[in-house]
Amino acid sequence: MSSTPATLDLDLMREAISTSTLSHALKFIGDRWSVQVLMGAFMGMKRFDEFQERIGVPRRTLSDRLKMLVHLDILRPRLYQERPERYAYHLTRKGMALYGMVLMVWEWEVQFGNQRLSLPTRLIHRPCGHAFRPQMTCTACGEQVTMRDLEFTLRPNPRLPHDTGEPLRTPKISAQDAGFASLALRLDRWSLLIISAITLGCRYFDQLSYVLRIGTAVLSRRLATMVETGLLQVATDRDDGRRRVYLLTPASRALFSYIILLATWANDHQFHEPSSIRPRHRTCGAPLQPRVTCSHCHAPVHAWDVSFETGERP
Ligand SMILES: [Zn+2]
Ligand SMILES: [Zn+2]
Repeated sequence: MSSTPATLDLDLMREAISTSTLSHALKFIGDRWSVQVLMGAFMGMKRFDEFQERIGVPRRTLSDRLKMLVHLDILRPRLYQERPERYAYHLTRKGMALYGMVLMVWEWEVQFGNQRLSLPTRLIHRPCGHAFRPQMTCTACGEQVTMRDLEFTLRPNPRLPHDTGEPLRTPKISAQDAGFASLALRLDRWSLLIISAITLGCRYFDQLSYVLRIGTAVLSRRLATMVETGLLQVATDRDDGRRRVYLLTPASRALFSYIILLATWANDHQFHEPSSIRPRHRTCGAPLQPRVTCSHCHAPVHAWDVSFETGERP
């Protein structure tokens, strides 16, 4: 990060986050079930009952999420039975473009999740024939990208709508759920926005509250849970012993590829506008256009090239 807390422009950051494509995209596909339904679709699930049985999503929630994904033109329903009417849900082109993001969620779950989800244990890249881990790389130079290799320019795009700050219906996170942390509880909109704000340079409670427009009671509950579930670390400020600073952990830094890929998808396929937060790859100097490649052969990974293995984790 080039910015230090002393030089942060909090008003600019508040404006940029509010008009970022990430913030908007997280509203429709930032909750546990949407991500799991998408992951299921990439694993070949198509019918309502299949999603319901294999993911364990409540019927009403599943029906809401499928409607939302159809509305966004990510899934397309096809009638496969007339009486009673039954639909199969197929990924559209726009939906297929979310593949890299879904792979990075899989990667994160394998590393940091609690393994309660019935996820495939291995991914095989058919063109090279090897088991692989998905990696986010820079399209311009082909190098693997981690959060530390990026710098961000904030330039609020006036053509993007402002986040009205409407609360999203996300699952409530409570302290007793903390032991059961997984994709389910950790990948929600506010956690991802908090991680993004810290990445952009926020360190203190009051900075986060201002930049994200979150009330202090809600923010303090969220931060406490994120600390308990290993997404944040809290430390005493080196310059002022009375203040506490919030820091990212390996688990939250690793969520970064997911965040970047979702935001890029939203720029290219949903808003057709550059986001107000623009990442640049420091190593090569190019604006970051991320893609997901195979850790074995380094070729870009496409959905049709991957097979899933389930069973014992190696
Ligand atoms: Zn690069
Ligand atoms: Zn490969």
